[in-house]
Amino acid sequence: MKHNSFDSVLSALLTTVTVLLLYSCGNGSSSTLDNQSGEVEGYKMKECVHCEGKGYVLKNCPECGGRTWYFCTSCNNGRVECFSCKGRGAIECSYCRGRGDVDGAHCNSCDGKGFVRCDRCFGQGSIMCSECGGEMRVECRKCGGNGNLEVTCYKCGGEGKIKTARY
Ligand SMILES: [Zn+2]
Ligand SMILES: [Zn+2]
Ligand SMILES: [Zn+2]
Ligand SMILES: [Zn+2]
Ligand SMILES: [Zn+2]
Repeated sequence: MKHNSFDSVLSALLTTVTVLLLYSCGNGSSSTLDNQSGEVEGYKMKECVHCEGKGYVLKNCPECGGRTWYFCTSCNNGRVECFSCKGRGAIECSYCRGRGDVDGAHCNSCDGKGFVRCDRCFGQGSIMCSECGGEMRVECRKCGGNGNLEVTCYKCGGEGKIKTARY
């Protein structure tokens, strides 16, 4: 009886080892297959060294010249003219319609001046440039501020692999 139970333990162990071996063999052969899949109709596919198999290369952004930003063209020192008051800093008093008096009575709303301070620019006549946020420079849209653009690799045409003749 003792001998038999030892045998069954041994055979169970062997089965486990066999399964493990088969499993690792399966893994090994599948990775070999991957390598072999590069062989197509008498040609060998080789990883493109120009792009390291990525299919694209980085090119200096022509828009910003690799600077990643360019000077804002829509403002003057980060500020633009206030469109509410057209840069005057004041708008016509709506109470007296710019006359300074209402039916001969002194207009208290504008203190008789006929105009009031522009609320949009707080009387400054200019507001912060929304294009650059007052920074005077904007991130390059073309490269997204990377300074580089991904362009298709001309050596492999974006495949990442190059066909080479088998010999
Ligand atoms: Zn390439
Ligand atoms: Zn007024
Ligand atoms: Zn204004
Ligand atoms: Zn700006
Ligand atoms: Zn750019």
